[in-house]
Amino acid sequence: MKRFKLITLLGIRPDIIRMFKLIKLLDENQKRYGYTHVFAHTGQHFDYELDGVFYEQLNVRQPDINLGVGKTLKERGGPVTHAYQTALLFERTEEMIEKEKPDAVMYLGDTNSVVSSFIVVRNNIPVIHIEAGGRSFDWRMPEEKCRKLIDHISDALYCYLPRYREILLREGIAPYRITVVGNIIEDALKMFVPHADKTNIVSKLGIEVKKFVAVTLHREENTSTKEALEPKIRDLIKLSKEFPIVFPLMPRVRANLEKFGLLADVEASNIITTKPLGFFEFLKLEKEARVIISDSGTVQEEALVLGTPCLIARRSTERPETIEAGATILAENNLYENAKKAIEMPIDWDRNILNPYSTSPSDVIFNDIMRKIKSGFFDHSRQFEMVGNDMFAQQAYGRIPGARIV
Ligand code: UDP
Repeated sequence: MKRFKLITLLGIRPDIIRMFKLIKLLDENQKRYGYTHVFAHTGQHFDYELDGVFYEQLNVRQPDINLGVGKTLKERGGPVTHAYQTALLFERTEEMIEKEKPDAVMYLGDTNSVVSSFIVVRNNIPVIHIEAGGRSFDWRMPEEKCRKLIDHISDALYCYLPRYREILLREGIAPYRITVVGNIIEDALKMFVPHADKTNIVSKLGIEVKKFVAVTLHREENTSTKEALEPKIRDLIKLSKEFPIVFPLMPRVRANLEKFGLLADVEASNIITTKPLGFFEFLKLEKEARVIISDSGTVQEEALVLGTPCLIARRSTERPETIEAGATILAENNLYENAKKAIEMPIDWDRNILNPYSTSPSDVIFNDIMRKIKSGFFDHSRQFEMVGNDMFAQQAYGRIPGARIV
């Protein structure tokens, strides 16, 4: 019998962080369970600061396959259209699946990389999605489109919490495809906070514990126009007069600050800009900051677990459980005043709400995938038999003779 072949296809830094344990589990148990695991990367991120450092620090092996999408786009130079980027990703993904002939491809999250899941299912190969059901209900966000696309075409969906399962059910996704596992970021934090504690980043930056603010901003809606970015930067400059701010800049954000004529003011202020930092260094900053200001989904989760208040600088969040827990507040603007409010929040929230189960989410996903491989789930996961009880499906297949359809 042919061994089941699973490809894990990732694209950016939080994917590596969240998946460090699951990749290891999938690598180590191939013989025992009789499957093959191939680790692939789209190459969406490829600089050392956004990619290489994470393999090193988290002790994750290099991918077997790198689709090199980011490098090709960079070499091409000039403005790149969505159509070109997506077409390149589709082409490389299809070449990979033609060569590797996988039995399933696994993705995490809501990045451009997950859009390639369409070409996987187009080739009749099942897709697995981790972080399913997250919705910001903000259709302007590129990530929201990615989330909906992959969730609706996936065979197996792993959600962090029951609310995400409810969202998927409400969108009409069949219950048999959904499994709730707890938030996988917990596994990374459990493992790596002790490493973060050993870094000297706080003294290196000349700041003091609980007397500085950590900031990340990178989402398109916050950084791609001057109208969106400038008020946030003005508020940060004002706040930095009271607390030094550490702000690791993504290359695109630095370029935009320059383009919009804001970089000189930032550099003249009490904002310490850095390149993107290593995970351990950034984790240490998150833990020791007085408050975090961020538009990152992962950072708001980490803030909750680490016990640092966080201002989510966005219109909406796909993780409102952090607000409900009392660990974060949400505000797109007036970052100065809202950061002050966040500082006043009592730090007494339940730090376990992201994974209220006593199990490791990576273990749960691994065991469930093994069960699914063994039971032949992926052979029939999207076939008619699986939706046969659905009235509309029965009508579509002419199984309700004489039924009135309209
Ligand atoms: N992070 C990092 N270095 C930094 C800033 C963030 O290692 O300079 C980590 C952070 O701790 C979190 C992840 O990168 O684990 C968040 O990535 P990002 O904000 O790019 O992704 P998102 O969560 O928005 O998808």
